[in-house]
Amino acid sequence: VIRTFSTSIRSLQPVTPVNSLNIKRTTPLFINGEFVESKTDKWIPLYNPATNDLVTLVPETTPEELKAAADTAAEAFKTWRKSSILSRQRILLDFQLLIREHTDKIAKSITEEQGKTLADAKGDVLRGRQVVETACGITNLLMGERLAVATDMDTYTIREPLGVTAGICPFNFPAMIPLWMFPLSIAAGNTMIIKPSERDPGAALILAQLAKEAGVPSGVLNVVHGSIDTVNFICDNEHIKAISFVGSDRAGKYIYKRGTANGKRVQANLGAKNHGVIMPDANKNYTLNQLAGSAFGAAGQRCMALSTVVLVGEAKEWLPELVERASKLKISGGMEPDTDLGPLITHQAKERVENLIQSGVDQGAKLILDGRNPVVPEKYKNGNFVGPTILADVKPHMDCYKEEIFGPVLIALNVDTLDDAIGLINNNPYGNGTAIFTSNGSNARYFTTSIEVGQIGVNVPIPVPLPMFSFTGNKASILGDVNFYGRSGLQFYTQTKTVTALWRHEDVDHTKSAVTMPT
Ligand code: NAD
Repeated sequence: VIRTFSTSIRSLQPVTPVNSLNIKRTTPLFINGEFVESKTDKWIPLYNPATNDLVTLVPETTPEELKAAADTAAEAFKTWRKSSILSRQRILLDFQLLIREHTDKIAKSITEEQGKTLADAKGDVLRGRQVVETACGITNLLMGERLAVATDMDTYTIREPLGVTAGICPFNFPAMIPLWMFPLSIAAGNTMIIKPSERDPGAALILAQLAKEAGVPSGVLNVVHGSIDTVNFICDNEHIKAISFVGSDRAGKYIYKRGTANGKRVQANLGAKNHGVIMPDANKNYTLNQLAGSAFGAAGQRCMALSTVVLVGEAKEWLPELVERASKLKISGGMEPDTDLGPLITHQAKERVENLIQSGVDQGAKLILDGRNPVVPEKYKNGNFVGPTILADVKPHMDCYKEEIFGPVLIALNVDTLDDAIGLINNNPYGNGTAIFTSNGSNARYFTTSIEVGQIGVNVPIPVPLPMFSFTGNKASILGDVNFYGRSGLQFYTQTKTVTALWRHEDVDHTKSAVTMPT
């Protein structure tokens, strides 16, 4: 069945005259266990970022289709919540195996729609699959607590699902972020509606197909598409009890406000500005390689990209060597085997990044490596490419410091002491990730305890926690207080009942009513 997926999903004939755009391929919805063509007349064109060739048309899901997705998820919840935990575990075990077997197929879809290199796309799938593998432990994760609180009296907790949940995803990890959401949610007995990014929904649909293969029943997982109208529906629909969001500040603040105003739980992971502190006692070779990889890998389109380097004291002398390493990175289409950096997601993203580079120059920073208009192979000449770029002598008032650039641009600031570096980072509104490179354990410990950032690397550039932990960004990088995946993720998708039970009450005084609080 998996093999027939490419024909059943990818060659669906459009029902509206989208052929005027010279394409026969549209992206289907996944509702009630079926891949269906939207009846919409509003289609969002999706272009391959490396070539700007049209890949597919993504529907703005109609209100009727959205309602069908929510109704079917609500209906499916009635039986799914009663399914045994062992049967849900069995499905997850099969699901992770199918993801493993179809990693290449998912990765190719990611590279075609999102642009990142094939090797990096496989990492996207792997990091998502690890969440599924951890969710396979649902039989232990969902255990409650029990205590004999008095003679013959027990108190115990039961973790129950919420109902229909929804996930709204960004473009930069088309497999990993949907997998942060639906495996844990459905493992806990919820049903889910996923809205992938309208810029690269292909991976989420392959995952939905694999979930169906693994035995996820119809209606338990649904995938809808679109932009603001779909998001508004999710924020307002009465069946939806909780929304997981990952993406930009603007969308996240809006969704948090509208979703919580409607009484829903909302967890929202937002933007970032991640600083890497380089102490002069760090291992130079290792540090420079890690810096180049974490600033420019995935063309800087990672929420944990180390995009801001803070050079303490003499470490500022290392910049020429960093330029040397960054200039050697190969810029090309993500399908090419030796590519280091693929394109940016859209032409608009490319222009925005180029403008932020120019603003740095205009505001007094030194452009020591200019990646604008890089040379790429002829077949990628229309792609959205920006090469590795380094702006030195950046100051906190500059726009290139204040904004999340989300491109292959590393900005460098100089400070005299570790305390200056900590002060700078703690003054930044974001708190997603940070790292210190040092060979001094005492400085590293001082840094980890003084810094107001949720995820800290010590000689580790992109410290995204593995899924037995949770993703713990803080400050302006998060709205809501219950994190994604790990114990916290499960807490988000469940509610707790606490039962206090007394079965033997012969010894209790039966002669009068108990009107006072027990003391
Ligand atoms: P985005 O906010 O543009 O899109 C995310 C989702 O929100 C999409 O599904 C989109 O359809 C929807 N959306 C977009 N604009 C909207 C609006 N005005 N109103 C309602 N919904 C809207 O984000 P993106 O560009 O796809 O992703 C990049 C951003 O995501 C970066 O800021 C990055 O830091 C952030 N991100 C954060 C994390 C994290 O865990 N902190 C992880 C990945 C990405």
